[in-house]
Amino acid sequence: MNEDAEQTKHPSHAPSELRQDPVSGEWVVIATGRAKRPQDFASAPQKRATPSAYPCPFEVLFPNAHSVYARDGGTNADEWLVQVVPNKYPAFVGGACPVLREVGPYRVTDGIGFHEVVITRDHARPLGVQTSTEAELVLRAYQDRFRAIKADSCMRYISVFHNHGPLAGATIEHPHSQIIATPVIPPDIGRSIAGSHAYAQTHGGACVHCAVLRHELRAGERVVYENNDAVVLAPFASKTAFELRVMPRTHCAYFEEAGASERRGVAEALTVSLARIAKGLGDPDYNFFLHTAPVGPPESFSHYHWHIEIIPKTAVWAGFEIGTGIEISTISPEEAAAFLKNVIV
Ligand SMILES: [Zn+2]
Ligand SMILES: [Zn+2]
Repeated sequence: MNEDAEQTKHPSHAPSELRQDPVSGEWVVIATGRAKRPQDFASAPQKRATPSAYPCPFEVLFPNAHSVYARDGGTNADEWLVQVVPNKYPAFVGGACPVLREVGPYRVTDGIGFHEVVITRDHARPLGVQTSTEAELVLRAYQDRFRAIKADSCMRYISVFHNHGPLAGATIEHPHSQIIATPVIPPDIGRSIAGSHAYAQTHGGACVHCAVLRHELRAGERVVYENNDAVVLAPFASKTAFELRVMPRTHCAYFEEAGASERRGVAEALTVSLARIAKGLGDPDYNFFLHTAPVGPPESFSHYHWHIEIIPKTAVWAGFEIGTGIEISTISPEEAAAFLKNVIV
């Protein structure tokens, strides 16, 4: 074991270790004193419905689709693989830039924004079993919408997320992601940006994510998968058991600027990660989401490093988590990585 790995070794006398995320500053508890084996996290077999079991609304190509991506690389409607459509029940709608109002001690603003759905064609094939070519199309669809939404000067953040299964909040089983653009920077993003900015200030402009990547590739113990363009890590301060982070190797703050090679590498890393979680843990529900630099007024976020976070639903937030924001994970990320590294998909 080298020096880097040695420094993060768990002390034997304590039943848990408090770890701090170097970017967000958030603390987590890795409570391996209450240790379970990796297999003990496996979900009970899931009953996934078939499209014929109920009328699935996502089986058709929507006439109002913003964009369509077809098998042949073109837009042949019969061959569609990915489509982006406006959400039928949006949380945010387009309109004039909202104005912040003060109501007594409160601040309020209108829910002006974008809410779109990115649908892949095959009901029975979640992203984890799709090819990396198909997943790359999904990333391309995200990027194209990013560029279009960015043109709206009111928006400050574009959030991309994917809910798989009811425990992860998916109300429609058909594989789909969502894009929500808001006129405010969400708090988790704000914390990440502030943390990454503070690190750059005190480290000659260096990127904290690049530093983490270098450290993790040297230490090796939390690396789950890597290819030429991307690395999958079980984060040192994992918020939840089997959390994974897909990091592009090349430093870039803005997801929408990632090139074809990165898209392919990240798509491959994402599908491998989801497939190993599904196979190793009995197809648990999960969320994944993109973290990238905010949009809007010219302000440099060049210190940031876009990435994807995958959170399997292996635990429920209880009073301590809700009351403090500190999550307790009962398997160490080192053990989770060792387990997922060896799942054959
Ligand atoms: Zn469907
Ligand atoms: Zn970086």
